[in-house]
Amino acid sequence: METIYFDNNATTAVDPLVLDAMLPYFKDLYGNPSSIHHKGAQVAEALKKARNSLASLLGCDPGEIVYTSCGTESDNTAIWSALFTQPEKRRLVTSKVEHSAVVNLASFLRQQNYQVTEVGVDRQGRLDWEGFKASLTPDTAIVSLHWANNETGVLFPVEEAAELCREKGIIFHTDAVQAVGKIPIDLKKTKIDMLSLSGHKLHAPKGIGALFVRNGLKFAPFLIGGHQERGRRGGTENVPYIVGLGIAAELATKRVKEENVRVKALRDKLEQSLLKISYTSVNGDKENRLPNTTNISFEHLQSDSILFMLSQEGICASSGSACTSGSLDPSHVLRAMGTSYSAAQGSIRLSLAITNTEEEVDKALKLFPQIIDKLRDQSPAWKDGSPTK
Ligand SMILES: *Cc1c(COP(=O)(O)O)cnc(C)c1O
Repeated sequence: METIYFDNNATTAVDPLVLDAMLPYFKDLYGNPSSIHHKGAQVAEALKKARNSLASLLGCDPGEIVYTSCGTESDNTAIWSALFTQPEKRRLVTSKVEHSAVVNLASFLRQQNYQVTEVGVDRQGRLDWEGFKASLTPDTAIVSLHWANNETGVLFPVEEAAELCREKGIIFHTDAVQAVGKIPIDLKKTKIDMLSLSGHKLHAPKGIGALFVRNGLKFAPFLIGGHQERGRRGGTENVPYIVGLGIAAELATKRVKEENVRVKALRDKLEQSLLKISYTSVNGDKENRLPNTTNISFEHLQSDSILFMLSQEGICASSGSACTSGSLDPSHVLRAMGTSYSAAQGSIRLSLAITNTEEEVDKALKLFPQIIDKLRDQSPAWKDGSPTK
């Protein structure tokens, strides 16, 4: 059976060019980049090149990049750093729809007697701007808002939010794990102080991430150890993965346009056709959204049943975040948006990538109506004509 992979917000396939570039660093090129001898120097040179590639994708200085082990570590590092360096300020301002890397850190901090404000969103998942402005109190150490939501693809106005924070002397961090590679980013033109990204969301492997830390920003390392990453993260650099992320960044720089034209057209075709099925709707602002993501509710159905049937046909999708699936509670993102219970229960996320083709979309579109009809026929509530409660 052929796999059709529409779950690229959970993780992406490692690009073959990325893997090829990594392999020598598991073989002959095993030096420690901190070593003085030529085995070290070779590798230090590769690190430098990779850092340049990532910096050019982000529009920042290479020295502003700190490599980490994942997006989660980058998010944690940013928030801890802001709290450590400003002990007199004890508030974190974030939103109700962040990834668990921020949501669960926020609830941990609350238990440690930090103050946390979680700004809400409207029915379309857009940030409550007035609520956000009102949340910026003098005791705020850091604002952390994601650039793009992993479940709906909705984009937050992070550039405007960063400007406002700069005026008020508040550090601004964005979790851009879903945005990097999918929309153009030019950090030099923004007031963003810190930005998190993760390799495996842009065709590099799992286990490598990065944090952009603006030059001059007061910073406290999360991992204290050697002088690596200019003292901003101890631990010998994960050279093969950093090299892989460098190639992934080069590819993303070249492909961001295709992402916004071809991939977007595929997403739109998929979405528009699925909306012809009865009792369906899109969750999230259709205008300000990632080009690859759609989140669709099939009312009176359980998303797990849909996902199971899709999987039997080789189609990979997900309900909201892979980190929270397995629980029957509707996603915290859809709940924050005020999505009805019935719509939230039957919501699935389809997230495409450069690796997808029109043939795959067409094949999925043939299968979908059959699957939905079959499941609805089996649903007592659907047959009674009474919506599930
Ligand atoms: C995937 C994801 C993360 C976590 O990244 P990891 O590398 O898996 O730790 C954080 N934030 C968002 C928005 C994500 O989509």
